Amino acid sequence: MSRGKIRRARKRLVGEREEALFHLGGLVHDLHRRGGIDPGLLERRSGKIDEIDHQIQLLDWRLETLGRERRARRSGGPIEAGHCLNCRTPFMAEAQFCARCGVPFGPMSDPAGMTMEIEGLPPT
Ligand SMILES: [Zn+2]
Repeated sequence: MSRGKIRRARKRLVGEREEALFHLGGLVHDLHRRGGIDPGLLERRSGKIDEIDHQIQLLDWRLETLGRERRARRSGGPIEAGHCLNCRTPFMAEAQFCARCGVPFGPMSDPAGMTMEIEGLPPT
């Protein structure tokens, strides 16, 4: 996936997030006025915003990874593929799981239906 595509997807998510927050604010106000806030409903709405945050984080991570790959290709140096989303430990392109916390780096699940490919990376 190209950087431009990731940026556009990210922008769309940020917009969705703002909209979701806006509606959540309106909802809380409305419920408060009527004298009852349903915690279950709030939790679901908040969960949706958390989910969007998570997707934005994934896209940021990909942009970071793509930038790093580009720099590595230019310099011909060893390639660090990214940071573990769980503990922020850097990992190499061919790593199957995080060396520190053990989180697997298999094909990333992607709610937007996109898959990331790391290409052109030589083995160490
Ligand atoms: Zn980790």
